[in-house]
Amino acid sequence: MTDVCIFWFRRDLRLEDNHSLFEALKGEFPVQPVFIFDTNILDKLEDPADARVTFIYHEIEQLQRKLAEKGTSLDVRIGQPLSIWKKLIDDYRVKLVYANRDYEPYARSRDKEVYDLLKSNGISFKSKKDHVIFEKEEVVKENGTPYTVYTPYSKKWKALLTESHLRSFSSGEVQNWNQTSPRPLPLPGDIGFTISTISFPKKEVNIDLINNYHEKRDYPALQGTSRLSVHLRFGTISIRQLVQLGKGSNEKYLNELIWRDFYQAILWHFPRVVDENFQRKYDGIEWRNNEEEFKKWCDGKTGYPIVDAGMRELNTTGFMHNRVRMIVASFLTKHLLIDWRWGEAYFAEKLLDFELASNNGGWQWAAGTGVDAAPYFRIFNPYTQTEKFDPKQQYIHRWIPELNTPDYPTPIVDHKLARQRALDVYKTGIDR
Ligand SMILES: Cc1cc2nc3c(=O)[nH]c(=O)nc-3n(C[C@H](O)[C@H](O)[C@H](O)COP(=O)(O)OP(=O)(O)OC[C@H]3O[C@@H](n4cnc5c(N)ncnc54)[C@H](O)[C@@H]3O)c2cc1C
Repeated sequence: MTDVCIFWFRRDLRLEDNHSLFEALKGEFPVQPVFIFDTNILDKLEDPADARVTFIYHEIEQLQRKLAEKGTSLDVRIGQPLSIWKKLIDDYRVKLVYANRDYEPYARSRDKEVYDLLKSNGISFKSKKDHVIFEKEEVVKENGTPYTVYTPYSKKWKALLTESHLRSFSSGEVQNWNQTSPRPLPLPGDIGFTISTISFPKKEVNIDLINNYHEKRDYPALQGTSRLSVHLRFGTISIRQLVQLGKGSNEKYLNELIWRDFYQAILWHFPRVVDENFQRKYDGIEWRNNEEEFKKWCDGKTGYPIVDAGMRELNTTGFMHNRVRMIVASFLTKHLLIDWRWGEAYFAEKLLDFELASNNGGWQWAAGTGVDAAPYFRIFNPYTQTEKFDPKQQYIHRWIPELNTPDYPTPIVDHKLARQRALDVYKTGIDR
């Protein structure tokens, strides 16, 4: 057996411009790539045909093909990471381990356990920044505390950005792989899943779209946004590549990528947001949490066409346009007074691009409880939102064929009443 460096793929499923992989390949030991289907995560997924698992599976297949051309083979395991690592250090002469950093609370505790195991076996575990442009304390206020408002954060982010943050870690220059014969991949059934038939947004960067982004991004009937979120989520595309592009061609697009870094930073500094209101003054809100109404919202049957269209798009495709995400989230938390955590959990189950940091940030923003959130008295009016952003109702008609027929439900609640009720309940909650 030869000494090896293991590269552990997680949310960075690509060979090109992959920071830790690049460092690993530059090192003295041949690199053995590993991927773990983590049963701690998989066991919590309810749908046996969960499309995210299919997405990962297809990406793993592609990685395996590319790695075979380099004379190596991805070692794919299924189980709890710590137990798998105990086996890996038996199966290989591991000298070093590389992975890219992941800022979610679960990932942080998982990596700490693996770090401790490796350390007690004399193996060092190195990690690099890859998923974001700035991490941890890199963008903080002058006094060292984290920003909790987006605009000053983004100004500092832009001021700190240099070409070195956007360099491409091209592994074309360095190729030091552990030469092994091809290993078969586990079958989807071995992981406990079936293949989903959902089609995934293409990994194509459309320059014209980015150039026109500021004009079209708010109209859900148009193809005005990149639809690359699932690729950013799983690292099948590099954030550095997209920031380079946004920086040169469209400030609005760049700003959205900065929102992504911002929410990652919030999760890093305030992991309690996963379960709690960021702003504690909202802890006294008495959510109505009506289960029947929640079901109607989930199913796209509230009688509010823009809300229902959004939920049906989500249920059918695993995607929802950002403008509509804001509308449906506001509707659930304000019109129906259902706890944002219910909506967040439903999105987490359905969104292909589900990302804890952005999802939590988006939900707390809509509920008014988050960092830099919409003030509680700003309640989206679904009708005026429709007039502004879907004026010809093309998006609505695409998803609600029975609109204007007796089959379409009447509104679950009157807008004016719901608005006043939300104002009262929020106000009482804050004063409590
Ligand atoms: C309630 C709610 C929940 C959300 N949940 C998620 C989620 O789970 N995962 C997720 O990636 N995004 C989430 N978003 C943010 C946003 O809606 C999506 O990133 C966007 O719709 C993805 O489409 P796109 O790739 O075409 O985006 P584009 O408009 O092309 O934007 C480019 C990229 O910037 C990032 N981005 C854009 N808007 C935001 C934002 N508001 N916050 C953080 N990042 C952003 C995404 O990575 C996106 O791919 C949520 C927003 C709301 C209001």
